[in-house]
Amino acid sequence: MPQQRLAQRLHGIAPTIFSEMSALAMRTGSVNLGQGFPDVDGPPAVIAEAVRALEGGQNQYAPGLGVPALRQAVARHQHRHYGIELDPDIEVVVTTGATEGIAAALLGLVDPGDEIIVLEPYYDSYVAMIQMAGGVRRPVTLRAPDFRLDPDELRAAVTDRTQFVLLNSPHNPTGTVLTRAELQAVADLAVERDLVVITDEVYEHLTYDAEHVPISTLPGMAERTLTLSSAGKSYSFTGWKVGWASGPRELVQAVLAAKQWLTFTSGSPLQPAVAHALDEAPGFPRQLAAALRERRDRLCAGLTEVGLDVRVPQGTYFATTDISALGWADGLAFCLALPERAGVVAIPHQVFHDGPAGDQLVRWAFCKEPDVVEEGLRRLAAADLRA
Ligand SMILES: *Cc1c(COP(=O)(O)O)cnc(C)c1O
Repeated sequence: MPQQRLAQRLHGIAPTIFSEMSALAMRTGSVNLGQGFPDVDGPPAVIAEAVRALEGGQNQYAPGLGVPALRQAVARHQHRHYGIELDPDIEVVVTTGATEGIAAALLGLVDPGDEIIVLEPYYDSYVAMIQMAGGVRRPVTLRAPDFRLDPDELRAAVTDRTQFVLLNSPHNPTGTVLTRAELQAVADLAVERDLVVITDEVYEHLTYDAEHVPISTLPGMAERTLTLSSAGKSYSFTGWKVGWASGPRELVQAVLAAKQWLTFTSGSPLQPAVAHALDEAPGFPRQLAAALRERRDRLCAGLTEVGLDVRVPQGTYFATTDISALGWADGLAFCLALPERAGVVAIPHQVFHDGPAGDQLVRWAFCKEPDVVEEGLRRLAAADLRA
């Protein structure tokens, strides 16, 4: 399609790096340590529930808010894990993955010219949806080597037009889990400046050396926080695209107001299955995290052995390396050379940055079977990775 046929609201937004790199992995027969999806599905009992719903006639439109069983299960989940009280009839809405939650939240809440503070490196859909909503992103950078949130940088990003903070913790791609003190800095600012916080917590259960604290549990935050999550990462069903948004009625209503024109409702038969997962397999995400922790450790050790400077993540599917030790200045060039050099695909951080802070950083996924991680490491060890 000629560029001039693309609406302005999409100008300058590159195609998602994940499609590009996964296609490259397929084409070159590479081990895909790029895109973050597991290669083993979630609990069979949950799949059996989905089959039951499909065969049992739950194949027509679900209610716009989502099927009651799932909204109730989400409310129970938030209470069980975090002590959060939600009314499932007005404070929870089911979305088509967290991706639609992000889209509907931004389209439903942001007016043109509103500024949104967003952690950088950012998940790529934030940038696209902020732009489609007419908002202006104000990145606050989590900087190597530790990727912590600097409260001074956060404050410096605020202007008279700031309306929102878009948080992500556990954070993709750095693996940072924001501490209570870091979250408190965000909360202090939000209360002082009357900001709404939209928080993407899809990795809430995939933490290793740190505890995930939902920012909505901090004093004064419940009434100004919209929390997004999904079954994709917690239950290894990334292809199901069942997510949810929860929080005060006004914010949930805004999500629903946009969501009704995006998808109207989300997949009926998968919703009762996810309700079953949340209620009947509440221990699954922790078991998954324990398995992922071993793969994280193996991947980080292997990447260190091949001469990369590794940042061990506290959460998510991903580890980050600095490639400058191997003489590289540009992560994208490194990642484009990697399939041919080594038969491995990884993701450059720089596509998630406005500035140069991520130029020498590369993200590697460990949400793969142990033999896949081992094969990737074997190939890296056998290759010449120097610039
Ligand atoms: C995977 C991911 C999402 C998307 O979640 P879905 O439920 O698959 O739509 C959103 N945010 C972050 C940070 C992610 O890594």
